Amino acid sequence: MTETGLHHVTAFSGAAARNAEFYTAVLGLRLVKKTVNFDDPGTYHLYYGDETGRPGTILTFFPIAHAAPGRAGVGETQETAFRVPRASIGWWTHRLIEKGVSHEALVQVFGEPTLRLRDPDGTALALVGVAEAGEAPAWTGGAVPAEHAIRGMHGVTLLLDTAEATGAILTGVLGFAETGREGGAIRYAGTAREGTFVTLRAVGGFLRGRTGAGSVHHIAFRAADDAAQAAMAQALRERFGLSVTEQRDRQYFRSVYFREPGGVLFEIATDAPGFAVDEPVEALGDALKLPAFLEPHRASIEQALPAIA
Ligand code: ZN
Repeated sequence: MTETGLHHVTAFSGAAARNAEFYTAVLGLRLVKKTVNFDDPGTYHLYYGDETGRPGTILTFFPIAHAAPGRAGVGETQETAFRVPRASIGWWTHRLIEKGVSHEALVQVFGEPTLRLRDPDGTALALVGVAEAGEAPAWTGGAVPAEHAIRGMHGVTLLLDTAEATGAILTGVLGFAETGREGGAIRYAGTAREGTFVTLRAVGGFLRGRTGAGSVHHIAFRAADDAAQAAMAQALRERFGLSVTEQRDRQYFRSVYFREPGGVLFEIATDAPGFAVDEPVEALGDALKLPAFLEPHRASIEQALPAIA
């Protein structure tokens, strides 16, 4: 069966080394790919995920040292949440205190214990305690003991003027179904175990967001293959009148992009080929990987990029 859900989330951060330190040494994710922004090769593109970077586990960053901070607002992703075993929420609370990570008191969101925190650039994150998350495999090579490790993404919350038009695309094209409403938020779920939820929060009249460090650039949804992606793009054009880009080869997946009616940049990315296409699983993230069209410029690219410990 085709799995539907989030493929990855991509955000802006400040300094690359600080970003890498937080996501690997504090949150215990694996740096599964160290490459550059294909559209701006002077900037890293860092991918964090589970052991192999399966769809639904991936958070990626374009780190820009000294970037101005973004501002949360309408037309943006408000929060990116990860899954952890429910029994591990107390362990995580202690860890955030011990590591000096800015966080809030535990709250219940759609019946699940939720620990909200900020990364060093102010990116709004959450750890959600999910009863069955402990059954999913965990990366054993990380900075967090495997029993407590993050088990992929839980979902994202989008801040919108109104929710209806975005909801129609989630259910009509991207394979989601509405699963609940709580305090003005509407939750939709895909079928995949990770990256399952998109929650829409309608806050008409609120300020628009401003892009910068700590803000999400786009969220990507899964397509099983090129044909499924093409069918989704066709539906977006013909049934919703949206303009969708041509397919772009992102080396680890193939993507199309569109601006959804609420203003958030959406991508649809294929599950294949994945991150092991240009280096073995054991070595993921170790070396700077470049697509063939940038390989001739490797020396100057490497020279321009800051070191990551
Ligand atoms: Zn993307």
